[in-house]
Parts: sequence; structure tokens; C-alpha cells
Amino acid sequence: MSTIAVAGGGIGGLASALALAARGHDVVVCERSPEFVELGAGIQLAPNGMHALDRLGLAEAVGRIAVPVGELRFMDGVTGEHVVAMPLDRRYRDRFRNAYVVVHRGELYRLLLDACRSRAGIELRASHPVVGYAHEADAVRVLLADGASLGADALIGADGLHSAIRAQLVGDGAPRDAGITVYRSIVPMERVPTELRHMSVTWWAGPGRHFVHCPIAGGRFLNLAPSAENAPAETFSGVSVPASEVLGEFGALCESARRLLELGADWKAWVLVDREPVDGWTDGRVALLGDAAHPMLHYAAQGACMALEDAVVLGDLLDCPAGWFAARLGRYNAVRRERTARVHRLARDSIALWHAEDAAAEARNKTLSAMSPAELYDFVAWLHGTREFAGSPSVTPAIQDPAENSAYTLGGRLDPTETPNPRTPSRSPRSAAAGSPASARSAGTYTLGGWLEPAEDPQPVTPPRSPRNPAAGPLASPRSTGTKESPKTL
Ligand SMILES: Cc1cc2nc3c(=O)[nH]c(=O)nc-3n(C[C@H](O)[C@H](O)[C@H](O)COP(=O)(O)OP(=O)(O)OC[C@H]3O[C@@H](n4cnc5c(N)ncnc54)[C@H](O)[C@@H]3O)c2cc1C
Repeated sequence: MSTIAVAGGGIGGLASALALAARGHDVVVCERSPEFVELGAGIQLAPNGMHALDRLGLAEAVGRIAVPVGELRFMDGVTGEHVVAMPLDRRYRDRFRNAYVVVHRGELYRLLLDACRSRAGIELRASHPVVGYAHEADAVRVLLADGASLGADALIGADGLHSAIRAQLVGDGAPRDAGITVYRSIVPMERVPTELRHMSVTWWAGPGRHFVHCPIAGGRFLNLAPSAENAPAETFSGVSVPASEVLGEFGALCESARRLLELGADWKAWVLVDREPVDGWTDGRVALLGDAAHPMLHYAAQGACMALEDAVVLGDLLDCPAGWFAARLGRYNAVRRERTARVHRLARDSIALWHAEDAAAEARNKTLSAMSPAELYDFVAWLHGTREFAGSPSVTPAIQDPAENSAYTLGGRLDPTETPNPRTPSRSPRSAAAGSPASARSAGTYTLGGWLEPAEDPQPVTPPRSPRNPAAGPLASPRSTGTKESPKTL
């Protein structure tokens, strides 16, 4: 019997505890907060996230709290034009073998927590901030803020964006400020005009800003989340802001979008941050997971899904004696890094797609509106359709260790039947300037990228080394050079 410590009791930490306990390990979850609780609003779960929950034994319970989404609707937030919608109906569910849903974050967390509480072998310790770790001969010592420590056979750092374990393992300093503020409010659905009620996740795209909303809590509330590239002077998180600030930021949007924003009250604001992807997340018997490993902008709506996927893969790989943990954690890292880095790039690339203006926005609309549901499905197949959560086979070596005779099957490869049709986007007559470097936002040179990247070749993993950990370093990729520098792709 092995003991595995998990630093952080968020979605990723609790999911890992479930996955590891299911393999017969004792798990101690050390959470710094005095209570195990998660607030917050809606969270989207694509079929890959639902499949991970299924693997954790929670599919039925999640099904009871989930609101199936009818479509992902993309609107031009300036003209009000309905550009395109990806139906999430039976065709989608048949193809990806699960639904696309929205759940209340607090309700999802409660399910994970209840499952942990009722599973033998999981111990939940609140008010236990972890500050670091020390290697021992055949174990790891988990260092706590009060000077106490805990011996374990492995440590999983699931302590989020500002992870103490990452600080020691990677040492890459503070997160990167994306220069974007996201505002959030929740509105009772009865206050929403009937003609603006849709069981969809809706994007209103505008110049330098966009607005997403979706129903949550069984459709009883509408979750509003507008974002603006307004280069905030300092980083803040969850601060109250007056409605007038929000309405001022989004005054250029069309009437329907503004009517919805005007319903918002008790607005809170966050400055968006992420980190550059790194190649190495492990140090012997210590590994990172979820936002501690690959913090990304929330624009792909996949951070929690990735944490859930991580947990499932971790559980599969740590189905072994403690003496194999270090090697297996290295495999977990190898299996997961390319997929999570690709989602990270997708989230950053979404900014260019959603925040385009003028000719670039017209070209985007023209391209998107010409796409059929099947074509849209093709483009998300690599993300929504995977059942094994592993990275690209072309950069991830075959996971087979004859000595241990314990393969982790590589999934996530593009099924030949799912290879999408490359499209050459057309330009509108007014987008003649597209391609000029003069105005990157208003006249980008288009390739299908970001959300609509059909068959992107994985970038080679040749990172520079971090001084703190020779295994770690940014995943060099032309697409991951930062929000402001991202090439304008559609
Ligand atoms: C606005 C927004 C919308 C999002 N929408 C979606 C979505 O629709 N779909 C989706 O899949 N994802 C979404 N995400 C991303 C998702 O919320 C995160 O990726 C996910 O919650 C990460 O989970 P985690 O457990 O790795 O980290 P966290 O949720 O950050 O949990 C970390 C835990 O560790 C604890 N902790 C921190 N430091 C220590 C320490 N030193 N010692 C002990 N404990 C510690 C914290 O208190 C916390 O409980 C969204 C994110 C944002 C910001």
C-alpha cells in the first residue's frame, strides 16, 4: 500500500485523489483553505471532460446537475449578425460519444468532494498549506507552512496557478498578465427577455473584446462573462466593479448584447493570466497537475477538463508499486504535455479570432458562416473527441516499458476518418488590406488556426532549460509567444 500526497483540493486535486484511491493507494489531500469549497459560476464540460468524469465514476451524478447545451453560437457583436452555430445535438453526441454540458462549478465540486469523502483511503486535510518538498531515499517529504511535514511515496502538486510546488519544481516566477479583464455576473433567467433566451453558449465577438453567456443551474440563471483587452495596470482577482464600468467597456456592442449586459449586477472582475507551457512537470516522485502544470486562459473552456484528463491518466499510470512512481510520473508528463500545450495555444489564439475588427472581422464571419456542422466537428475532433487523453503520437514516444510490461495506450491521435478538410478562407471585397502588417487586428493574414486548426503539426519539444529544474523549460512554439504577439489566425 502506497501513500500519495496531493497538494491542493481543487477540481484537479480531488479528481486525482479519486483516480489514485481507485488504484488502491492511500491519498492525503492537503488544502490550504480552512474549508473544502469552490464557489464560482458556470463551467463548460466538453465530451472529453465528461468522459474523464465517467472514468472517475461520476457520469451519472454529473448527468443530474448538467445542463446540456444546444449549440455553440457565434455572433458578430457589432452588427448583431448570427455568424455560425455548431449544433451539439445527436449528430455531435453520436460522433463524440458524450454531451457538451454546462454545470455549476460549486455543484461539480460538491460531487467530487462527496465522492472523496465516501471513498475509503482518501483523507482530506483543510488548513494545510504546502510550501515545498524534499526528496528522501525512497520517498518524498511534503513540507507544510506550520513547519510540520508529511512523508509520502509521491506528491502531486495540484495547487493551481500560484502553485508552491511549481515554484520549487519549475521556478518560472509570476504568471503572465494577458492584458485582459474578464467581468462576471449571474442573472436570474426570468429577468432575461424571452427572445434572448437560448440553451446555447453564445459568443458576441467585437473589436478588442467579446462577451460570452450561457445558462447554468438547470437553466435558472444566465452566466455573463464579457472580456476586454484593456491592459489593466495591475493584476487583480474577483474585485467588485460598478456596472457602469462594464457597460462602458462594451458600449460598442450591438443592442441585443448590451441588453443582456445591462441585466448584470454585482459584477466582479479578474485580470486574466496564464503561463508559458513548460516541458517538464516532474521531479522524481513529484509531479504537477491541472493549473499548476499547464495554466491556460479560459477561452478554450478546457482548463478543468484538462485537469480531469490529467487525473485519469495519472490514475492509470500509477497503477503500480511505489518503486515505479518516478518513472511513471515521467510518462504521465510525456503523455500529457503536447495535448495540454496545444489547448493552451488554442486558448490564446482564440483572442485573435474573437477580437478581430473591420476587414478581419468580415473575413472571419465569411469563413465561419460557410462551414457546415460536420466541418466544425472535424475541427474540434482532436479536442472533444479523444477518449484516451494522450498527446500526439508523432511527438510522444510509444509508451511501452517492456521491463514493467505496462503500456499506456496512446490516444488522441487523429483518426483517419476524422481528418478534416483543409479550407482556404475567402476574403470579403472590403478585406483587401488583409495581410498587411499595418493593422494586425483589423486586417490579419488568414490561415485557419486557433479554434479552427484542422491538422496542426505538433511543434517539436525542444525547450530551453530552466535554472531551477533542468527538465523544465518553455515549449517553444511560434504560436505560444504571448497574447500580444500571437499571429493573427482565424
Ligand atoms: C473565468 C474562468 C472560466 C473558466 N471556465 C472553464 C470552463 O468552462 N471549462 C473548463 O474546463 N475550465 C474552465 N476554467 C478553468 C478551470 O476553472 C481551471 O482550469 C480549474 O479549476 C483548475 O483546477 P485545479 O484544481 O488545477 O486548480 P484550482 O482550481 O486553482 O485549485 C487549486 C487548489 O489548491 C489550493 N492551494 C493553492 N495553493 C496551495 C498550497 N500551497 N497548499 C495547499 N493548497 C493550495 C487552492 O486553495 C485550491 O483549492 C475557467 C477558468 C476561469 C478563470
